Amino acid sequence: MGVWPRLLLLLPGASPWGCVRRSAWPKSGPASSWRPRSSGADSDALKDRRAQIMARGLPKQKPVEGVKQVIVVASGKGGVGKSTTAVNLALALGANDLSKAIGLLDVDVYGPSIPKMMNLRGNPELSESNLMRPLLNYGISCMSMGFLVEETAPVVWRGLMVMSAIEKLIRQVDWGQLDYLVIDMPPGTGDVQLSVSQNIPISGAVIVSTPQDIALMDAHKGAEMFRKVNVPVLGLIQNMSVFQCPKCKHETHIFGADGAKKLAKTLGLDVLGDIPLHLNIREASDSGQPIVFSQPQSNEAKAYLRIAAEVVKRLPPPPV
Ligand code: ADP
Repeated sequence: MGVWPRLLLLLPGASPWGCVRRSAWPKSGPASSWRPRSSGADSDALKDRRAQIMARGLPKQKPVEGVKQVIVVASGKGGVGKSTTAVNLALALGANDLSKAIGLLDVDVYGPSIPKMMNLRGNPELSESNLMRPLLNYGISCMSMGFLVEETAPVVWRGLMVMSAIEKLIRQVDWGQLDYLVIDMPPGTGDVQLSVSQNIPISGAVIVSTPQDIALMDAHKGAEMFRKVNVPVLGLIQNMSVFQCPKCKHETHIFGADGAKKLAKTLGLDVLGDIPLHLNIREASDSGQPIVFSQPQSNEAKAYLRIAAEVVKRLPPPPV
């Protein structure tokens, strides 16, 4: 019997045929005054049973073929540096441990930035098993909606179409054997975030925010969402925390100084690191030569390398 007929069976007076028997409803009096007659213990048991049956209707999490650990990079707000962080984190994970194979998946279907930031374009080829081959640059296997649509074409999909596109971007890709797949999420806490979190086992989420109140409010929601769907939040990354004048070296906290630290305290999370607001980071991203690749000795790149090490420290042991 399917989930819904079973659920209906749990309703007082329901028949096995999935419809509520009329005789079970009160014969007179306003409908709102009628309550099922059950003891507290009965109704707790009923609630538990309903929850169990509802859980069966949720999508089953299935690992991504060939991928050991998935790390999602999320933010509440757009424009806080989530994609820049995802790209440099992926590169830093590889740079810290050359034996690791890294993938980068851009599920920001409405605003894919990975093709530009990783200097990749073109359509993925199909493998013999009809899977899309990721595009490769700087040693990272990448997949993005940006490889499948024209750069300037808006994606005007909603709901199921987006879900189905994301399912394809995750599963119809020949990832090979990856130690880490870094997923660049769209901003916010909508369908895509939920769908990804419920469809694949995620080893950990990192939340990127600037120290500004308005960004932190949304970062807070993002962290709560992951907790609700049982995705471990590894910590917060505070981006654009300080700007150092290239001429006089004076430091300015344009978006505030310690906002992410305060939020981390409120949420009982760690701050994985601070990334300064720096022209080199922006220029490197825009030119498709991410800073961890193009200027690995710079202080900015070192900030990403330290964060990658903090992320790895907090991951659960990979499956054998
Ligand atoms: P999001 O993915 O959150 O929308 P992006 O990663 O696309 O944000 O970053 C938005 C812009 O800010 C980009 O132009 C990027 O190069 C720039 N940027 C991100 N982080 C930094 C930083 N730490 N210093 C300077 N520019 C940055």
